[in-house]
Amino acid sequence: MTGEGEDASVAIAKTVLKGERGELDPFLVGRQNGTKVLNAPKLRDLDSMPFPLRSEDRLGRYLLYDLTWPPASQQHNTAIVLTSRGCLHSCDFCASATVWGQEAVYRSKEKIVREFQELKEIFGTNTAVIIDQSFGQDKEWTLELCKAIKNAKIGINWYHQSNLTIDRDVIKAMAEAGCTKIGFGMEGLSPRAVEKVKPPNPTDFDVINDVFDYCTSLGLFVKAYTMIGFPWETNQSIKEYFEWIQKIRASQIKISYMTPFPGTVYWEKYRDQLVTRNWENFDTVRMPVVHNPHISIEQYHDIRRDLFRAFYDSNTYTDAARQMIDRFPRSVESYKEFADYLRHFDMISGNTHWLD
Ligand code: SF4
Repeated sequence: MTGEGEDASVAIAKTVLKGERGELDPFLVGRQNGTKVLNAPKLRDLDSMPFPLRSEDRLGRYLLYDLTWPPASQQHNTAIVLTSRGCLHSCDFCASATVWGQEAVYRSKEKIVREFQELKEIFGTNTAVIIDQSFGQDKEWTLELCKAIKNAKIGINWYHQSNLTIDRDVIKAMAEAGCTKIGFGMEGLSPRAVEKVKPPNPTDFDVINDVFDYCTSLGLFVKAYTMIGFPWETNQSIKEYFEWIQKIRASQIKISYMTPFPGTVYWEKYRDQLVTRNWENFDTVRMPVVHNPHISIEQYHDIRRDLFRAFYDSNTYTDAARQMIDRFPRSVESYKEFADYLRHFDMISGNTHWLD
């Protein structure tokens, strides 16, 4: 089967359970090697989908351990919510355009607000993670949604991922509607690396830091998503990373290994340089999966650990954390739990002073 599965899955279920074979006809597009192929069309009316089948038991198992408000110990029935599908961009490393096409389809704000209300009323949820590919791309739609969430006074804090081209009015509206953290795809760890990866982002670190500063001035935590593990990296690139990472004014950093997924431009570019085809290793953190002639896998693991430490031990991070705690005192709880989390994963050394 190819395409989006919701409508076709219902048709398959009816065919199997009720024997209504005609249900599948609209989806049949032919045969491949003697097997019938279904091509499910793109779902344009996302409101036609029911809310996810949630239960207290399932929701209770998931916590967001990131630096966020509320911290993990104060979260209750943290939920995952989807408000749109797809992204207007098409980055070479990302599978979004392969899966959804280079466009975004949105749910109605009424349905999203209703889902938030249901989460609060039935499960007492106080934290939600919006897992859209890139939330906030459509300025008008996002402003309207934020206004509706704010007016409904639901009391759920939420986190989402966006990109650095986001409008400041939108960031402000998000903060007023309960957003407590935004993740941004920076991708590279130096201006040169950002430029090579070519996301729809500014490459100037001052411009990037301005966006981060604006968010933190509103009390929002900021997570920067970055990658290492490119075959073009040399010891000089790594040296630059250590220099630049200490200038990033984010509240949290994620350092993934660049991982080319089938269907992406990177897959075509790097598929012949893979060091593994065991898909378990394609989780972006276990190991670099593309061969680098200058840096071994073991060296990469040490580099990644040391980059985390360089970031969290830097004066930039210490100053930013202290400022956040001064301006928004409740955030000290978040920082305390986050420090435990970082210690557990060996991402900070003993020289961390942001909580002194
Ligand atoms: S902006 Fe983000 S979601 Fe969109 S294509 Fe690029 S990486 Fe993927």
